[in-house]
Amino acid sequence: MEQNYDYDVIVVGAGPAGTCTAIHAARSGLQVLLLDQRTLPREKACGDGLSSMALAELNRIGALKRLLEVPHTPVQKIAYHAPDGRSVTVPILKMDESLPATGIICRRILLDNLLAEMAVEAGVEVVDWCRVRSLMVREGQACGVRAERGGGREMAWTARVVVGADGSESVVARQMDMPRYREFRALAVRGYFRQVLGIRGNIEIHFPEESLPGYVWFHPTETSVTNVGLALPMDVVKQGNIKPKQVLRRALESPGLAERFAFAEQMGELEAGVLPVGNPMREVHGNGFVLVGDAAGLVNPCSSEGITNALISARIAGPVIADACLSGSCDEAALRQYPYQLWKEIGPSIEMGGRLLGLRTPKAIGSLIRSAARRPHNAGWISGVLLGSALPSEDLESFLGYINFFAK
Ligand SMILES: Cc1cc2nc3c(=O)[nH]c(=O)nc-3n(C[C@H](O)[C@H](O)[C@H](O)COP(=O)(O)OP(=O)(O)OC[C@H]3O[C@@H](n4cnc5c(N)ncnc54)[C@H](O)[C@@H]3O)c2cc1C
Repeated sequence: MEQNYDYDVIVVGAGPAGTCTAIHAARSGLQVLLLDQRTLPREKACGDGLSSMALAELNRIGALKRLLEVPHTPVQKIAYHAPDGRSVTVPILKMDESLPATGIICRRILLDNLLAEMAVEAGVEVVDWCRVRSLMVREGQACGVRAERGGGREMAWTARVVVGADGSESVVARQMDMPRYREFRALAVRGYFRQVLGIRGNIEIHFPEESLPGYVWFHPTETSVTNVGLALPMDVVKQGNIKPKQVLRRALESPGLAERFAFAEQMGELEAGVLPVGNPMREVHGNGFVLVGDAAGLVNPCSSEGITNALISARIAGPVIADACLSGSCDEAALRQYPYQLWKEIGPSIEMGGRLLGLRTPKAIGSLIRSAARRPHNAGWISGVLLGSALPSEDLESFLGYINFFAK
């Protein structure tokens, strides 16, 4: 006999992955509940950078035009700075020529709030200040959540499918016994600084030796404020017993950067967060549930970008969930199209990001930056290699061999 549910889908977490999965599912005709533990709108520690691919995804759901109406900074170029002081500035390649922007910097509170508003417009019921504590599981299949609303009120709702969009410490992933892949993690820290000298409206990527294979970014915002941050692979943090906040401070005090911060004023605290980097072997679904965005561990290991893949995972998950609900079964087999399509689309770039991270030695970075300066026609491609967003070639090994050779 057909079981009665409160909703078709419960999405846990109202970051970009959760709001967009909710939008896609609601537009497919499903009844959707979206929960977040924080009071919305909420801030999130982030570099606030949206790549050309992220903009293309936002355009697909009709969010880009509206995003361009909220305060943001369009960026058209990236300046790369090698450990030896050399630098090159290259244009950001557009994913799609029809897009009105190549990349933008936009505070997360604004982006995430816009997407939450669009979810409500799509018919999603949003409940904030509501922390999911555990999942309801019947015969091995997720079928709802138990949550605590602000003030300690216990709540419970049932659904055909539960979506874990609850970030790097996902309670949905934990409850459904998904392997954590703790080794595939990075740490990032960011702060806002007023009056950094020499900001020219470009993204800046610095590779000071102490941060390798990680990097330091400067993201200009629409005021005279710069989002400054650092991303470091977790094994480097653990092996060296390193504190990312200290590494960032040391990098900003290094001879190459110190004079840029001579008059800078830090606004608020440095804030750190975990980056669950992608691994195509990772399981991201099961009986009655799927994981999207950071909960699924989709951050590019080399660029440390997670928003693009969060949006892609939402675009793929929504229709797969809708098909499963229509078919009357939401078990593991009915949701299997999700991991299949997801890894087919983003697996190669994640794998490539991991491989390119291994090339981040001072010598290789210096050579790549020199090559980009000497050969402007190759600069876009070299930029993709430096940031880990180069498209994989058909023959990965010879592609990497070529880059190695190129970087000598
Ligand atoms: C310092 C830093 C800089 C970064 N810079 C960039 C960048 O410039 N560009 C880029 O593309 N990526 C960047 N990233 C990565 C990016 O922030 C994430 O990949 C992205 O936020 C993932 O979105 P999400 O929706 O999966 O998760 P999140 O944005 O983390 O959203 C998860 C939501 O789930 C909610 N939640 C968690 N647990 C529960 C619960 N139990 N019950 C209810 N709600 C819950 C949280 O409150 C949160 O709102 C950066 C990350 C860090 C830490």
